[in-house]
Order: sequence, then C-alpha cells, then structure tokens
Amino acid sequence: MTGKIIDGKARAAKLRADVAEIVAGFHKAAGFTPGLAVVLVGEDPASQVYVRNKGRETLASGMRSLEHRLPAKTAEAELLDLVARLNADDGVDGILVQLPLPGHISEPAVLAAIDPQKDVDGFHIVNVGRLSVGLDALVPCTPLGCTILAREAMSDLTGAEAVIVGRSNIVGKPMAQLLLKENCTVTVAHSRTRDLADVCRRADLLVAAVGRPEMIRGDWVRPGATVIDVGINRIPAPEKGEGKTRLVGDVAFAEAAEIAGAITPVPGGVGPMTIACLLANTVTAAAMRRGLEVPRF
Ligand code: NAP
Repeated sequence: MTGKIIDGKARAAKLRADVAEIVAGFHKAAGFTPGLAVVLVGEDPASQVYVRNKGRETLASGMRSLEHRLPAKTAEAELLDLVARLNADDGVDGILVQLPLPGHISEPAVLAAIDPQKDVDGFHIVNVGRLSVGLDALVPCTPLGCTILAREAMSDLTGAEAVIVGRSNIVGKPMAQLLLKENCTVTVAHSRTRDLADVCRRADLLVAAVGRPEMIRGDWVRPGATVIDVGINRIPAPEKGEGKTRLVGDVAFAEAAEIAGAITPVPGGVGPMTIACLLANTVTAAAMRRGLEVPRF
C-alpha cells in the first residue's frame, strides 16, 4: 500500500491566496499595504535565487517588496545601520536578512539588531523565547510550514508521538516547540541519539531535518505514520546524463511511501511552504505591530 503524497505545492498556493486576501483586507479596512524588506549581502548564487523568488511572491500577494542588495565587502556597521533604518521605517512590516552572511559579519549581531516585531524569520532571541514560553511569536518559516502540513495530514495532533530528527535552531528546535504547542509528545533526536531507527519507529509523526540524503529508511517508519521530510540534498543523477544531479530528501522516499500513511515528497513538499510562510509571517507581523486582529495559519 502506498501512503498519501502530501502536496506542498498546492497547500502553499492556498496559503499564498489566503495571504493575498488578508493583504487586500488590510488595504480596504486599514488603508495600508504591508511591506517586506529583504537584505542580501554578496553574490551567493543560491541566496540570489531565494531573494528573487521571495520578491516575486511578495509582489504577487499584493504586498510591497523592498530589496536591498549590498556588495560582499559591506562592513558590519553599514549593514547594522541599514537594519536600524528599516526598524525605524513605519512602512516596513517585515525584515529578512538573507543568510549566510559573509564571514566578516557576525550573524548573531545582525539578527539581534532586527526589531523582534519585524523579525519575519523568527530567529530573534525574543521570538525564540516567546515561542518557548507559549506566547504569541513570529516563528521560523520552515517549521511553521511543516506544522501546517502535519496538522492537515493527521486528523488530530493531540497526544501524537512526534519524533524530530535534527536539533538546529532554524528547524529542529522550533519544530519541537510548535509540536509541543499542538500537544504532541515530542522527542528530538540528533547525531548522538542511540538506536535512531528504533526511536523513529515510535513516531506517529516523523520530521526529518538532518541534511543527509535518504538517511531515514523505509523500515524506520511506523506503518501509517505521517512523514515530513525537510531535507534538501543534491545528489549525482548519472541516469539523467553526465554531470546531472537531482534533489532528494533525508528520507528514502520510495521505501517510506510504501509504509507511511502520508508523506511529503522532495521537491514539492516542505520547500514550497517555506516562502508562503514568510508571506504569512509578514501579514502576522503587520497585524501584531499595528494592533489589528492577528490571522491564524
Ligand atoms: P543543520 O543545522 O546541519 O542540522 C542538522 C541536524 O541533523 C543536527 O541537529 C545534527 O545533529 C543532525 N544530524 C546530522 N547527522 C545526523 C545523523 N547521522 N543522525 C542523526 N542526526 C543527525 O541542518 P538544518 O539547517 O536544520 O537543515 C536540515 C535539512 O533541511 C538540510 O537538508 C537543509 O537543506 C534542509 N532545509 C530545508 C528547508 C526548506 O525550506 N525545505 C529549510 C531549512 C533547511 P547534531 O546537532 O548532533 O550535530
């Protein structure tokens, strides 16, 4: 039996449509259009693609997109000065500084300088803290997208055994907080976890955020479990021709899909949700900062 394939692309399209409706509502009822500022330092090719896509989707949702592209040699003080100006600009509702930053700039210093109310990446320590004590917060986009997919794939998350493989600050840890908020019983596994396959087999909900191609095998999956694969790994694909590559997740998809109740593909699962959640966070930030009703996603 093959599990249901969770269509992240379709769900992301619906989320973008919901955001566009909220943006139109803000314009009509409160007379403003939310603005998202994205800052890119340097010419990292992957970051350039991300920033271009973010700008395009921001505009498509009816919001204003403000791009700031700075040369790789930009001094930290200059970047901090730009962040301070964006913090002070009332027309800017969200600020995202694309990571990674060049080595001479301190990422923690820059993330700490962003106004927590405009921190649409949810990386500021204030938002991390608010999420962990159960207060309203801006939460990191990828785990937010995973939570939306999991919530809809499983009839009830309350009491579910959730196992997250990976404990990074951008995926694993916030994922754990969000699933605790959904009343799951949460286990966070990592590179030092003993008997990882056995731990994974306990999961009603298995979230893989490791960065190792197809590490999680089909027989690590509990029959009927929901599997959310965050991993994006590029591997050689000689079958497509010399030098060709393809994307795979952290889960051996073909094997796991035979056992799982529902599973996200890579690509087309969690990936498309991430930028859609950035747009959702921007309208959330706009509503929170301006004292309007905060949308729930
Ligand atoms: P990361 O910071 O490198 O963290 C990887 C985590 O996996 C660490 O906690 C590490 O454990 C754990 N790990 C590594 N090898 C392991 C093993 N053999 N067994 C068990 N755990 C192991 O990565 P990340 O930033 O969280 O990203 C994870 C993956 O998600 C990557 O493929 C990344 O490209 C992808 N990603 C996708 C999106 C998206 O939009 N879809 C967004 C972000 C990330 P230790 O802590 O013990 O080292």
